[in-house]
Amino acid sequence: MSEADCIFCKIGRGEIDAEVVHDEDDVLAFKDINNKAPVHLLVIPRQHVANLEEIGELPDGVVKRLFEVSSAVAEKFDVTEGGYTVRVNNGRDAGQEVFHLHLHVMGGRKLGMP
Ligand code: AMP
Ligand code: ZN
Repeated sequence: MSEADCIFCKIGRGEIDAEVVHDEDDVLAFKDINNKAPVHLLVIPRQHVANLEEIGELPDGVVKRLFEVSSAVAEKFDVTEGGYTVRVNNGRDAGQEVFHLHLHVMGGRKLGMP
């Protein structure tokens, strides 16, 4: 999967529409198109990395920022008090469908494991 073909890179470049909820230099957050919870957001690094095995390629601070933005958008959508899940589906057995690293931020209902 090249950056040219990657759907989340395309969202980052504005080539595909998304409901963006947070936008900054290195990190973007938008609504999941197929929400599995009342609040279901995706937080991505703008730079293309496929998965957790590649996070070493991200500039210093971006991984921390992914979590800070996850917290910020959870706050924005009012789920910090009730609680929320931050989840990475990493690889085949986890059901990863989009091979651009992303954090699912889900809340607004009771969420269990897995
Ligand atoms: P996964 O790779 O399993 O972590 O899941 C990828 C997620 O991306 C799914 O929850 C999809 O609903 C979501 N998704 C796929 N295409 C888009 C899109 N164009 N805009 C927003 N979310 C998307
Ligand atoms: Zn990408």
